[in-house]
Amino acid sequence: MKYKSNKTCYFCSQKSTSTEHAPPSLFFKGFVYSSITVPSCDIHNSKKSGADQAIVSGLLQSLEPYLEAKSQDVNDAFERARGSFIYTKHSAIRSPVFMNAPKHINLPDLAYITPKANIKMWVKQLTAALIYWVTKHSDPFIDWTSARSWSPHFSPAPASSKVDFFNFIANPLRELAHSNNKFSWSNGWMNKPYGYPKTIYYFHFRVANDRIYFRHTFYDTYQWFVSFKASRKTVEVLTAKYRND
Ligand SMILES: [Zn+2]
Repeated sequence: MKYKSNKTCYFCSQKSTSTEHAPPSLFFKGFVYSSITVPSCDIHNSKKSGADQAIVSGLLQSLEPYLEAKSQDVNDAFERARGSFIYTKHSAIRSPVFMNAPKHINLPDLAYITPKANIKMWVKQLTAALIYWVTKHSDPFIDWTSARSWSPHFSPAPASSKVDFFNFIANPLRELAHSNNKFSWSNGWMNKPYGYPKTIYYFHFRVANDRIYFRHTFYDTYQWFVSFKASRKTVEVLTAKYRND
């Protein structure tokens, strides 16, 4: 169905042509939930860019060795997605993570997500959609290109099995992510009446020194942080939300 509206895209000022789900519905296959949806142009609809499937596959495949320790919801999500791994084998590649890990460290294979499924940008877009849903406008003051997006569970690599083990261990961003966990975070918002299953996805945010921080948690495992400066109006809306929760 063509989406007809005068609304602008949640991420840019182009006219919207479709609806973006934040996060994508693929995460919640088989669950009862109320989606957060925002107007989107074709370029910023993550479903159309094909990134969603690769990212869901990549995150879930890397959980396979740990499923026994995970909740029933996460196990169900894995089982429902398992059949699609074959379609994403070129974009979410199961492989050893490091090119030079010491032999005595026995590490499971993880998933290499190809740069085409740009997870850093994808997380920024998710953040933008969540903000749009609350403020009802896309904030032109936010420069998403220079916004920071990082995860202690992710390391950029030029190809599969090409992460430098020692560099990964020393990554200062990982330290930063851990220190961010020490701050007090406010619970993110949900759509009514069902919200998202928290074992699959939830987020927190905080406002500090005019900077906004988001902490996304996927599959009760992966944390992704995004930080950026926003317009005074956006900061005010989020600060009010922060205080009321
Ligand atoms: Zn757009």
